[in-house]
Amino acid sequence: MTAMTRRTLIGGAAAVGVGALTVGVLDGAAEAATTSGALPANVDVVVVGGGISGLVAARQVARTGRSVLVVEARDRVGGRVLNHRLGTGDTIESGGAFVGPTQDHIIALANELKVPMFEEYVDGKSVYNSSGLLGRQEYDGTVPPDPLILPDAAVLQYQLDQWASEIDVDAPWAHPRAKEWDSQTLGDYIRKNTVNPSGIGNLINCWTQPGFGADPDQLSLLFVIHYVACSGNETNKGTFERNSNTADGAQERRFIGGSQLIPLRLASQLGSRVALNAPVTRIDQNSTHAVVRTSRGAVTCKRVIMAVPPELSRAIQWGPDLPAAHRALLNHMNMGDLMKCDAVYDEPFWRADGLNGFGLSDHGAVRAAFDNSPADAKPGVLLAFVGGSTWKQYGLTTLAARRSAVLQGFAEMFGEKALHPIEYVEHDWTKERWTKGAPVAIMAPGTLTTWGRELRKPHLRTHWAGTETSTYWTGYMDGAVRAGQRAAREVIALT
Ligand SMILES: Cc1cc2nc3c(=O)[nH]c(=O)nc-3n(C[C@H](O)[C@H](O)[C@H](O)COP(=O)(O)OP(=O)(O)OC[C@H]3O[C@@H](n4cnc5c(N)ncnc54)[C@H](O)[C@@H]3O)c2cc1C
Repeated sequence: MTAMTRRTLIGGAAAVGVGALTVGVLDGAAEAATTSGALPANVDVVVVGGGISGLVAARQVARTGRSVLVVEARDRVGGRVLNHRLGTGDTIESGGAFVGPTQDHIIALANELKVPMFEEYVDGKSVYNSSGLLGRQEYDGTVPPDPLILPDAAVLQYQLDQWASEIDVDAPWAHPRAKEWDSQTLGDYIRKNTVNPSGIGNLINCWTQPGFGADPDQLSLLFVIHYVACSGNETNKGTFERNSNTADGAQERRFIGGSQLIPLRLASQLGSRVALNAPVTRIDQNSTHAVVRTSRGAVTCKRVIMAVPPELSRAIQWGPDLPAAHRALLNHMNMGDLMKCDAVYDEPFWRADGLNGFGLSDHGAVRAAFDNSPADAKPGVLLAFVGGSTWKQYGLTTLAARRSAVLQGFAEMFGEKALHPIEYVEHDWTKERWTKGAPVAIMAPGTLTTWGRELRKPHLRTHWAGTETSTYWTGYMDGAVRAGQRAAREVIALT
């Protein structure tokens, strides 16, 4: 594929000014989301959470003529999807950003809402920054060419793909080896089954820290196998490469104008059916109805769709309480630790040096770097994911110390110019009251096999959405869409 076609705009609406697009409304509701005042006393369905999953669910319910209300704790929609306006006026994402092949649901939604995509810059070499004898290396392909790591990496990748291909994404706990895999962490497995455990263990951090906000020792092997299995769709089995790659992988494309345009446009279609500044504190249910209590008043409804991260679901008071097994599941689904750090430059200077802006390092604050420049490459932006134990090291230090460490990491990969950005921005999701971490809730050993069956099991009149409940692309925007659609179908069938 040529450089030109790699960066073509996708979505057909590229020629249309993003701000000028008219978004269709549902049955003529042209009002905006409400931010204060009393909520309607009665609706058919209350959706808790105005992230992508909740908004998708609400729209699907509303399209059937049922009355619906989204109650959102924050003063904005989008949840883990959040645009950030740079000093230059350009937009980058503080949260979810990338999409790729087999993520058909988020891509179809973006196309419908006329949010165009562009391909991530992939021309040129990637950089691997090793503290070992090899030092800094430029390379092509997926895995850094470190001879001390390559054999283990190849076997591990093959093994994960093989096991992932055997797993039922709906029921990973049903695999004959599920208990064995769920009784160890990915870190345990690596220590017992590789030639150079510290080498491959260190490299795999460059995948788990951005992808889970966690280290291999925090992740059940079964959970990781399931995550790989989920990196596909009904016709293409999930693979490690599709999950981790840029070209032909989950990091292949971004949205022009930023991914938050998707929830913003969904909310604009829903209009006053979205209530902001309305955190849910308690949900009471009986055989005939449910009452959802928020800081803006109570709403009585026939069904509830919960579309919030697991840590937030368990913080709500439930009457009657959640079944013990479901509460145990939620208690074992804590969010990862992750922040995004971006450095902005007049131009993406690394491209002139034949580098694509992707880098991995076995040390320092920048374990994984991406070219995060807008589609027109003005300005140039480098993005670092700081997650897991790297977040514990750098996330808790001062802004000045972290900025310096991040720029140093970029400079080791892409040269001294990286030390002099025109702007530096960061977003720490562990500090977000209504998310509590990022990018996804993680599972330690024992969780999936003991309580996994509870994931999508309704609790009386309450149904579960949110990306964590998806069977494909769980943890991703695509999973959020899928889960919202599935929960809406459940509720529509019963209401
Ligand atoms: C840093 C980062 C990077 C990421 N990178 C990618 C990526 O590149 N590609 C990708 O596909 N995905 C990525 N993700 C993941 C993706 O953003 C999420 O999977 C997706 O947005 C989750 O959507 P959701 O609707 O399920 O949940 P959320 O977006 O978390 O929405 C839940 C909503 O519920 C609200 N809420 C919480 N508690 C309450 C309450 N008590 N009452 C009312 N409302 C409440 C919250 O405010 C929030 O708006 C990333 C996420 C982060 C944070």
